[in-house]
Amino acid sequence: MSSDNSISKINQDNSGFLDSTLRPDHWSDYVGQESIKKNLSILLQAAKERNHPPEHILFYGPPGLGKTTLAHLVSKESNCPLKITSGPAIEKVGDLASILTNLSAGDTLFIDEVHRLNKSVEEVMYPAMESGVLDIVLGKGPSARTIQLELPPFTLIAATTKVAMVSSPLRSRFSGGVFRLEFYNEEEIQRIINRSSEILGVDIDEDASKEIAKRSRGTPRSANYLLKRCRDFAQVNKHTSLNLKGVIETFSLLEIDELGLLRSDRVILNTLIDKFSGGPVGVGTLAASLSEEYSTIEEFNEPYLLQIGFLERTPRGRVATAKAYEHLNHKI
Ligand code: ADP
Repeated sequence: MSSDNSISKINQDNSGFLDSTLRPDHWSDYVGQESIKKNLSILLQAAKERNHPPEHILFYGPPGLGKTTLAHLVSKESNCPLKITSGPAIEKVGDLASILTNLSAGDTLFIDEVHRLNKSVEEVMYPAMESGVLDIVLGKGPSARTIQLELPPFTLIAATTKVAMVSSPLRSRFSGGVFRLEFYNEEEIQRIINRSSEILGVDIDEDASKEIAKRSRGTPRSANYLLKRCRDFAQVNKHTSLNLKGVIETFSLLEIDELGLLRSDRVILNTLIDKFSGGPVGVGTLAASLSEEYSTIEEFNEPYLLQIGFLERTPRGRVATAKAYEHLNHKI
């Protein structure tokens, strides 16, 4: 946080425009998730000693918690170049066959949103992961025959925000481990903000970084996003550093409250309370009444509202808790 790096100095420079600028490149910069890091370090060291690529790994958890970043770090640590794709991009068995046969020995294949792989592609994945072979069916009907291609040794790293939608046969083939990423505490998020500020050349004071951390929903991606918005606000207002006052003004413009709730979170909770008497109500019904995407509520809004105890998941649907009523000034 060097004070000579004034906001105006970064005006001319596009650093921080890309997500990758702030992505940790070393384990020492990857804050938190200690248990995952310990497990991975053993997995990677054991693989190195056996002179073999690490076994397949699945990361799951809400968006922005660092799954892709972990994939990059594992690939770098094990010296296995990373090839990146995603579940919806692999539409046909042929797409997967082409990806797998183009891998070189030791490559790491990263599949994001793995819960969106279709069934036929998934079935080809099983022997590829388990036995390192690709079964290709040629022809149809009685004359169909299967040929088997041996694949180079590779590591599959997959990520998902919806682990319940990953079938159990697929899940069980992640022999290196299935890891759940947790939300970060405020102190960890503040460390991430301080590091990002240094990279972006933003001079930020302690109170300001604390306040951003408080409102980041325990999520590094949100923390970096909010830091950049506060930087924009400071730059446009010709401030030379980020202080608490400027940060609070930015949050009020962004309509983000002191717990980090966005306007959309408050709309969801208010609708649940006003229209559905606090629930229980299914996410589908809630989404329809808000003209919002089901998946946005389920994957983006809901995890944090559950985490801070504003929402409860019951077999009959979602319920707003007393804490939510209190925060939004509703009478129970
Ligand atoms: P996901 O794949 O879970 O959606 P990403 O790995 O893309 O999340 O993380 C989003 C951004 O948040 C990264 O580019 C990085 O800048 C930051 N980030 C995530 N996890 C960490 C961490 N543990 N320490 C520091 N920065 C992190």
